[in-house]
Amino acid sequence: MEDVWIMDSGCSRHMTGHRKWFSSLNPVSTKEYITFEDNGQGKVMGVGSISLSAKLSLREVAFVRNLGFNLDLRFVLRKVRAAFLMLRRPMFAFCCLLVFRVDLTSFSASRICFVASPSADIWKWHRRLGHLSFDLLVRLSSMGLIRGLPKLRAEKDLVCHPCHHGKMVAASHIPVSQVMTSYSGELLYMDTVGPARVASVSGKWYVLVVVDDFSRFSWVFFMEFKDEAFGFVRDLVLRLRNESHKAMRAIRSDNGGEFRNSRFEYFRRDLGLEHQFSSPYTPPQNGVVERKNRTLVEMARTMLDEHRTPRRFWAEAVNTACYIAN
Ligand SMILES: [Zn+2]
Repeated sequence: MEDVWIMDSGCSRHMTGHRKWFSSLNPVSTKEYITFEDNGQGKVMGVGSISLSAKLSLREVAFVRNLGFNLDLRFVLRKVRAAFLMLRRPMFAFCCLLVFRVDLTSFSASRICFVASPSADIWKWHRRLGHLSFDLLVRLSSMGLIRGLPKLRAEKDLVCHPCHHGKMVAASHIPVSQVMTSYSGELLYMDTVGPARVASVSGKWYVLVVVDDFSRFSWVFFMEFKDEAFGFVRDLVLRLRNESHKAMRAIRSDNGGEFRNSRFEYFRRDLGLEHQFSSPYTPPQNGVVERKNRTLVEMARTMLDEHRTPRRFWAEAVNTACYIAN
C-alpha cells in the first residue's frame, strides 16, 4: 500500500486502509460499504483521527478494509462526481485532472493552498460587488451588514475608470428610502428598459425590472418585444401569491402600453389587485424601480467596460448586477 494521499474533488470523506496510522479509532455501529470500480467492496471498519504532523491532523477518517490507497477528500471542489469513478481505476492518480497525489509528510502550515481568506483590498470588493461606490462599501463594512465582508479602510482619491465612464449620466432620481408596505409581496413596482443598442446573445432587446417595495428584492426578465412583459408579470405574481401567506395588494407601473392594456386589466381584476399608474411624465412616482433600473444598467455597463466585454453580453451583465444587488 502506498503512503501517499490522493486528493479527489468528487467525494465527501477521508478514507484509508492503514490501520496503524490511526491515533484514535471508533468502531461504527452501522454496516457501511465502499464499492470499488471492479465491483469489489470494502467494509468501513471504523472512523477516527490520523495525525499527519505536529500541526496537521485529519478527523473523521474512515478505516476501510481492502482500500489500497488513501483519500483526502476535504479539498472538495464540488465539480465533478465522475472523479470518484475514475479514482477507483488503477491509474486513477494520473488519468483524471481532478484527482491529485498529495505528499502530506512534507506538509507545513506555510504551504497551505486552496484556503480562501477574506481580502481587505477595497478594489477587489468594489469590483466583486459590481462597482459599488467606495463610500457605501466602507459604510457597509463598518456596519457589518454583509456576511464575509471584512473591515475596509477608506482611502483618499480613489478613482475607478470603468465607473467614471459607465456612470456619467444625468442626475439620478432622489433616493426613495421610505417603505410604504409592511410585508414582502404587498406592492410590486415594475418598469421596462430598452431597447438596447444591440441585441443580447439570445436576441433580446428589453429588460423588465420588478422590485418588491418591502424587501427591495428585484427580478429581471429579458424580452424580445415589450408586450412579453404581461406574461412575466403574471407568472411572477401567481408564483409569489403561492409562496406567500399574505395577500398581494397592488402593482405599480408607468403608463407604457405594455402595462396599460386589457390583458393587465383582466388579470388584476381577477386577482383583486390594484394597478397604480404613475402620472404621465412623472417617473419619480415610480421612483423605486426607476432607481433600480438605473443602478442595474450602470453596474452592468461598468462591468462590461472594465474588461471590454462585447456589448451583446449586456443581458448577462444585467442579470449579474441584479444578483449582486439582491
Ligand atoms: Zn468601479
